[in-house]
Parts: sequence; structure tokens; C-alpha cells
Amino acid sequence: MKAIFFNVPAEGHINPTLPVIREMIARGEHVICVNTEDQRAAHEAVGAQFIAYPAVSDQELRLERIGSENIARMALNLTQASERVLPWIFDLLDREQPDYIIHDSLVVWAKQAAEQRGIRAATSMTMFVMSRDAWPPVTPGLVLKLIAQILPALPGYWCTARRMRRTLGVRPTGLLNTLSGIGNYHVLYTSRAFQPGGDKFGEEYVFVGPTIDGRQTTGELPFELLPRQPVIYISLGTIRNENLSFYHTCFAAFRDHPAQFILSIGKRTDRAQLGTIPANFIVRDFVPQLEVLQRTDLFITHGGMNSVHESLWQGVPMIVIPQQAEQAVVARQVVKHGAGIALGDKPPVGQVSAAELGAAVERLLGDLDAYRAATQPLRASFVEAGGYRRAAEAFMRYGRRS
Ligand code: UDP
Repeated sequence: MKAIFFNVPAEGHINPTLPVIREMIARGEHVICVNTEDQRAAHEAVGAQFIAYPAVSDQELRLERIGSENIARMALNLTQASERVLPWIFDLLDREQPDYIIHDSLVVWAKQAAEQRGIRAATSMTMFVMSRDAWPPVTPGLVLKLIAQILPALPGYWCTARRMRRTLGVRPTGLLNTLSGIGNYHVLYTSRAFQPGGDKFGEEYVFVGPTIDGRQTTGELPFELLPRQPVIYISLGTIRNENLSFYHTCFAAFRDHPAQFILSIGKRTDRAQLGTIPANFIVRDFVPQLEVLQRTDLFITHGGMNSVHESLWQGVPMIVIPQQAEQAVVARQVVKHGAGIALGDKPPVGQVSAAELGAAVERLLGDLDAYRAATQPLRASFVEAGGYRRAAEAFMRYGRRS
């Protein structure tokens, strides 16, 4: 059967899917992957046929552009990107005639096109399902903040949605629904034990766990000899990582610390602006994270789902400093299971002082064995969930449903 897999150009949304795509192809499926041109090599390496989004939409589909602290703004950005790319998607579907579609939970254009053309579509979810259990208790402050975000975005959303109904024949389903990722059938790369309220989801939610064991290594560790112990790895992921003030806070907190620090600053951060790098820091714009984690005692992370899964997989406790609202949800789950400490997880998220950061590291290192032990039940739940093989089976079974 022929499947088209639509995704966004972001490591966090692509990495978990690559072993699944490779496995589907090994089982005889014809899989066409659609993403921006710069993602071609990664997809062709797992044997997929690759088609690039049109260059005109390429920049608009980048999460650095679409993503926002403001969830209503992000939903509007996604809807506007969808309006622009949909005519091209319709042409592609008419030409390729897939039996079914798989799309990342943020790829609303594929979901809308599938509905309009009556093609079966399964959702690939690299985040938690943001159900009621995932969010903190509703307070008047939270409601006011949401209203302040939603009201300015509504006129733009209504205009775009009306145009899309009229000219493209699709039915956008509401501003905030755009972000929920809820469809008909979902494959999630986490476990029920880690998902907030995980036992409440029916069989249309297949929790396969992270697909890390199917991942190809991302490169050689560029620093064989790590002169100091313990090793502390710091990364804010690949999207919201242009955060010079956070990196300066790390330098201030740890320049005299006996540990070895590895800092991944991302490919867009201007290294020249970091100033003098302390002698106990190795700074790179990208590191082979899976390999680095094998050598790491403590991970200071933004709480991206993949980073947290990878850390738990390697039994590495974390200090989670969320940079976006949904990462605060991940931070809460890490704390709930005893696998780490959350900092700066209350709005405005991401704010942390050198003193707080230093104290959290000492607290965690002081009780490292207990934090390490707490990662193990989650790791076991990941292994048990079935990984990339179960994901491939789930998508293919869904594609064959009558
Ligand atoms: N990553 C990496 N090297 C780096 C930084 C990140 O390999 O220096 C990978 C990391 O292993 C993970 C992904 O990029 O698989 C980041 O995804 P995550 O969901 O953690 O965060 P996002 O980048 O989506 O915010």
C-alpha cells in the first residue's frame, strides 16, 4: 500500500519517525515523505521516497516561525501556513493517489486535505496529548491570560477560515483545536505511564514509547576525553535555543564548578556573543545527543519530549527549564516521577537565576542515585511499549482498515 507521511522541518518531530518509516518500508509499504528540502537526506537514508514542499512555503512551515509562547498566535500561524500550502497538497494527493496519510500532529494542512479528499489519516504525535489531565488547574489568572491571547487572534482566524472554506473547501475546526492534534487515530512516541492521565485513552491512541533503539547514531562524540567528572550536558533543543541570556546564566553559575559541562547552543546562536567561555565548558552548535547522554550524569534540558525521553532512556536525571507551555507539562511529569527537578516552570516560563540553577544542580548531584533509580520504571515502560516496530504495525493496520 502507498502512504504519504507529512511532517514539519524539526528534529524533534522527525527523529522519532525515521525508524518507523524504515520499518514500514522493510515490511513492503511504499512510503513517500513530504518535508522541506533540507530534510531530504535524513528521509532518503531510511529508504523513503522524498518530496519537498514547494520552496515558496518552505520558510512558512518552519517551527521557529510558526511556534510561539502565545498559543493562539501559533494556531493562527499554522492556519495561515495551511491556507498557502493546501493547493499544492491537493495536487500532490491527486497525482500520487495514496491509500492513506500519516501526518505529524501539527501538520493541519495534511489533516484538512485528507478530510476534504476522504482519505484515511493517522496522526504521528511526538508530544503528549494535551488533555485536561495535562494542564495545571484552571485559575482566574490562567483564564485571563488565555483570553488575552485568543481575542487578538480571532479576527485573523475567522477571515482565514472563511476564505479556506470558500476557496479550498476545507473546514478549519476552531482556533485552539488547530493545536490539539486530535484526529481519528494516533500513534504516540511515549508510554501510557508517562502521559498525563495515560490510562484514560482508548484504543485509538497507541502508545508505542520512544523509538530510540531504532535510531541511527547521529555522529561521533567530538570529545573523547572528558577531563572532569561528573559530566553535565546542557541543551535547549533545536527550536527555541537562541537564548544568550540563559547561556550566560549557565556560565555565571558554573564557571568555578568542578564538573565538565557540555553546552549545545543550536545552529542559529551567534557564538561570538557568548563572550569568554569558561575552561570547564565544551560548547558546540550541535552534538550527537544520544551518544553524549551515554556519558552524562545530569542533563539540563528545556523539556522537549525527545530530549526527555532520550535522557530517561539512558537513565540520566534532569533539571528541566521549560521554554514553552507544553514543556512545562513535560517538566511536571519528570518531577512527578522523581526523575528530576523543574525550574522556571511557572509563567513566564524559562526564567531562572544563576543561584537557583547552581542550587538545583547541587541538590540533584547530592541525591544522584535516588534520581537515577527513579528513571528506571519509566525506561521500563518505554521498552514495554513496543517502539518503532509497534508504530509501523499500528500505522499499517490503520491503513488497511475497511
Ligand atoms: N538534538 C541533538 N543534538 C543537539 C540538540 C538536539 O541531536 O545538539 C536532538 C535531540 O537528540 C532530540 C532533538 O534534537 O532528538 C530535539 O528534540 P526535542 O523534542 O527535545 O526538542 P525541540 O528541538 O523539538 O524543541
